This record gives sequence, structure tokens and C-alpha cells, in this order.
Amino acid sequence: MTVSHATIHLLPEALCNKIAAGEVVERPASVVKELLENSLDAGATEILIELQAGGKKLIRVADNGRGMNRQDVFLSLERHATSKISCDTDLFALQTLGFRGEALASIASVSRFLLQSCATDQGLGQQIYAEGGAVRRAEEIGLPRGTVVEVRNLFFNLPARRKFLRKEPTELSHAADVVTKQALANPTVCFRLKHNDRLLLDLRRENGLRERFAALLGRSLLKDMLEIDQPSGAELRLTGLISQPRLTRSATSHIYTFINGRYIRDRVVQHAVMAGYRHLLMKGRYPVVALFLQIDPAQVDINVHPTKHEVRFREQGLVHDFIVHSLQQVLRPADWLDHPPTTVAPEPGATIPSDSLPRPDIVAPAVNEGPAAYHAEPRPAAATVAPNSPAAPATDFSTTAAGLPAEQLPLPESETGGFFTRLQILGQYHQSYLLCQDTDDLILVDQHAAHERIGFEKLRHAYAVGSVPSQALLFPQILELDYRSAMALEEHRAELERLGFEVEPFGGKSFALKSIPQVLADRDVGQLVIDVALELEKVGRAGQLEESIDEVLILMACHGVIRANQALTTEEGKALLRELDQIDFKANCPHGRPVMQRLTLTEVERLFRRQ
Ligand code: ADP
Ligand code: MG
Repeated sequence: MTVSHATIHLLPEALCNKIAAGEVVERPASVVKELLENSLDAGATEILIELQAGGKKLIRVADNGRGMNRQDVFLSLERHATSKISCDTDLFALQTLGFRGEALASIASVSRFLLQSCATDQGLGQQIYAEGGAVRRAEEIGLPRGTVVEVRNLFFNLPARRKFLRKEPTELSHAADVVTKQALANPTVCFRLKHNDRLLLDLRRENGLRERFAALLGRSLLKDMLEIDQPSGAELRLTGLISQPRLTRSATSHIYTFINGRYIRDRVVQHAVMAGYRHLLMKGRYPVVALFLQIDPAQVDINVHPTKHEVRFREQGLVHDFIVHSLQQVLRPADWLDHPPTTVAPEPGATIPSDSLPRPDIVAPAVNEGPAAYHAEPRPAAATVAPNSPAAPATDFSTTAAGLPAEQLPLPESETGGFFTRLQILGQYHQSYLLCQDTDDLILVDQHAAHERIGFEKLRHAYAVGSVPSQALLFPQILELDYRSAMALEEHRAELERLGFEVEPFGGKSFALKSIPQVLADRDVGQLVIDVALELEKVGRAGQLEESIDEVLILMACHGVIRANQALTTEEGKALLRELDQIDFKANCPHGRPVMQRLTLTEVERLFRRQ
């Protein structure tokens, strides 16, 4: 008979710390993050971060925060030792960045760790030195109020982990990214970042986000950034800066989102941001945003992940839709067209030497599509532009182009003459672009892109308020389908009807197409109906009706609109511009291409060497 031995035992504290470190401390940047959070929680107004070898050799963070007394210096290295929460209700009313009380213990367990702190103005503090979590030395030292943490040889006692660290520039860029995020969220705090004794970032105290954003990401980006504050003063509130659709990046790296001042990278929030930009950006392009969501701490659980990057909302859908709606409020009117941005003067003491951070996509200036509007000089206010075209009589063009009379969209701007209405048409180039003048600037309007957006917005509107106007075919078109397409068509007949297609079974797998959307008059739409039905089929499974209907409407808008290479009379051109002013999101076609480009007089003069 075998005796059963107890095989379960409690792990020693030092091992627990190492395990916890595995979650919290992945690389030097994670240490920087935790130390910065502590400095900010301590109310620091100045923080100096020094790194050597990308942080692999040394990470040193010094702050002028409130510091710790002797007892706290010792306690701070214990696991689950924190001054920030004391009972579980505190978890849902967090006012601090930290609360788990494990960072210092974890970091100390995998490094050579020195902590110095002073909580008084007497200039006498306490220091403690630990190796792999074991305290080696502790003594008093002279120190002004504040805290210094030095972390040397990260993972020196976990060689397997150390091997995972990347090259110096990569680790540095991750650390710089962490500093960037904290600096965006705390414009009134000075941050300095040194690497191998070279000053990479020198961020002075700023009054607000705009200035801090400019100092971090480049002043030239500012003019393409829109302010958002929705709804101002409310409890659930979204503030910050979001890029116009023409300023984009090839990755999500410049979507900075914060909840109650804490940087987070959350799936729901990320999705909401992209949904806010839906149909405004080209495929594979992402906006630049620094967005701050303020929400009742009881409505969000931060304690989901050790690094606190993900969160859980009580009412996920509500927060999601709030973000989408807020972004669209700012993007929909495309106000930036009416008020072309004024030049932002280059900062005299610009801070980041752009060659010094090995992260071109963080600090490199904007790469825009096309010669877009970089205004070399302040421009007259839009209000001074004389409206040059009193309402021209509606042409056939305006009613047939998108199949709907313009009046169906009750939008006030047309009364005053919006941006496009005020443009003076000079002519048409290559039967594809309208050449226009806006005061001194030359404006090119892509007629196809313009028409696509108009068609799409009108269809979307018509669909939303009932159904898309349709038109009976003189001779029904017989569609002979394969089994799958026939099933899809049969199943979605009602939805197709709302989209303007009337189909009837015609025996077997055949259908008679009896009416089609007005917008598609004179087009061969046999294949389109099938495409639409198959698209609807996908919806059933994915359950994302709205998104898919939009795709269908874009498909229809594309088929329906005038193409490039179509001569337009001036009247037709004017009608097109007027229609643009009557719709939402008029700056981009639904695939995200820009509708217009601006060349300033200065830019034109430069082309002719007159400047
Ligand atoms: P947490 O931040 O979750 O409380 P940490 O292990 O990061 O846990 O820190 C433990 C405690 O040490 C903090 O609660 C705080 O009281 C103190 N502390 C850490 N860093 C600083 C600092 N830079 N200034 C003042 N106090 C600090
Ligand atoms: Mg902490």
C-alpha cells in the first residue's frame, strides 16, 4: 500500500515575486511605466527618466513627488503593500494609477534595485538596496523631497528572460513610447528622458494638451488635428484631439486612448474610434488621436489585467456608441474645409531631435496623401470670402446623379452657401477634376469622389428614413442563378426591396428583377443584385447589419455615380458643389479618398520660382 505524500506547498515569497514580475515586468519599458505611475501618483511635477542601453543596463526615475518616510521605504518593497487602496470598494473608486502594490516588489526581485526617498524638507532621506529582491543595505542619505529609483541589470537573475530582450534601439523605443503616453496624459508635468546621457525629450510644463501634443508628436501635425469635447461638462465625457481624415498613419500606433487619465489599449475603445472614422479613411490607414474618456470609476473595472491596459466596462455598448457618436459629431460637418487651418509656427526650442528616437513612426512628420494644404501663411477668415454664386437653378444633374432630389436632405448650410458652394469654378481638368478658386487658393475637386460621397450619403439617408426610391423596369430582367445565390436572394427579398430592388421568383432558380433603385437607372445591375444578396447573406451570420448595409449602399453609390472622364458644364459643376455642401462627411469619398486638394497661392508661386 502506498502512503500518499502531501505534494502541495506554499511558494517562498521571493519566488512569488518573481512570478508576479513575469506578469508586470516584461521589458525595461514596463519598469518605466510602473515607476512613472508611482511618480505621478506621488504628485510629482518634474520627472527625470534616465536609461542606459535601452534600459537593459540602467533605468533611473527621479521625481519631486511627496516621497516616503523610512518605514514606507521598507514597506514599499513588500508585495501587496500599497498606500493607495485599503478596501475592496476602493477598487471601484480609483483615483490613482497604481493600486496593486506589487510593482516595486516585482521589479526589485528581478534586478539590482536602489530606492531613495525623502518625505520632508529637511534634506534627510532613506535609501535601500536590494539584489534579486534580497535587501543588502539600508541607510540614511541626504536627499531633497522626492524619490529616486534605480533599476540595474534587469533580469540579471533570470537569464532566460533576459535573452528575450531586444536590441537597444527597440527597447528604447518602447520606453519612449511609455513616456509619450504618460506625458500626453499629464501636460502640466515636466518630463525629461535621457538615453546614454543624451537628452531625448525635454518637455516643459504646458497648459494643455495641444502644446504637449505639439512638443511630443510634432508641431506640424497640430493644424490637422481637431479638438473634441463631447459633451462638454457632462459626466461621461470625451475630450482630446483627433486627426482630420487626411492625416493618417499606417498602424494603430498613434491612437492614444485614456480612461480617467490612464493610458489604455482596449478592444472596445479601439473599435469605437475606428467606427467613428468609418468611410473616411482609406483601407489600412489609421487616425492620429489623443482621446480622454472621463467616466464614473464605478462604471469601469481597471483590475482586469496586471498591466492595467485593458478594462471592462459595465455598459460596454453604451460607451462604445458614445465614443462613435462623439467622434462623428466633430467629423461629420467637415468644418476644417471651411476654416482652413492657419500655419503653426515652428517651435523655437523644439524638443525631440528627430534623429534621436529610433522610432520614425512616432516622431516623423506627417506624410500626407498628395500636395495637401500646407498653408504657408495665415489665411483670411472664411467669413470674408464673398459668396460668388447665388443659387443656380437646379439642373437635371442634381436630381439624377444620386437618384434623389437634393431637397430631401434638410440641411441648413446650403442657405448660407457652404464651403463648396462659395468656390468659383474655373474649369474642368481632364474631364475628372473641377478646378476652382477659394480666395487666393487653387482647389481641385475630384468629381468622382465627390459624387460617390453624395450618392452614398443620400442613399444612407433614404434607407434610414424608409426605403431607397426605386424605378420599375419596362421589361423585367430575368436572372438565372446558382443555388446559393438563389437562396440568398429568396431569403432577403424584403431587405432588397428596402434597398430599391424588387425581385420575384420566376420558377426554379430564376428570378425576375422588376424594379431597381433610381440611382442605378440605365445601369446593368443583374450582377449587382446578386452581390447585394450575397452581402446580406454574410450579415445574417456576422450580425453586423448596419455595417453591411453601408457596404451595399457604397456598392450602389459607386455603380450609380458619374465616373471620371465625364465632361461637366459649369452649371453641372456648380450643382455638384452645392450638393456637396448639403451632405455629411463631405471631405472624403466613402472609400476614404479626399474629395478636394488645395494649392495655396504661395505654393503655386513657389512652383514658378516667384517665392
Ligand atoms: P502601488 O503603486 O500599486 O501602490 P507599488 O509597488 O508601485 O504599488 O508601490 C508601493 C507603494 O510605494 C506605493 O503605494 C506608494 O505608497 C509608494 N511609492 C512607490 N513609488 C513612489 C514614489 N515615486 N513616490 C512616493 N511613494 C512611492
Ligand atoms: Mg505602482
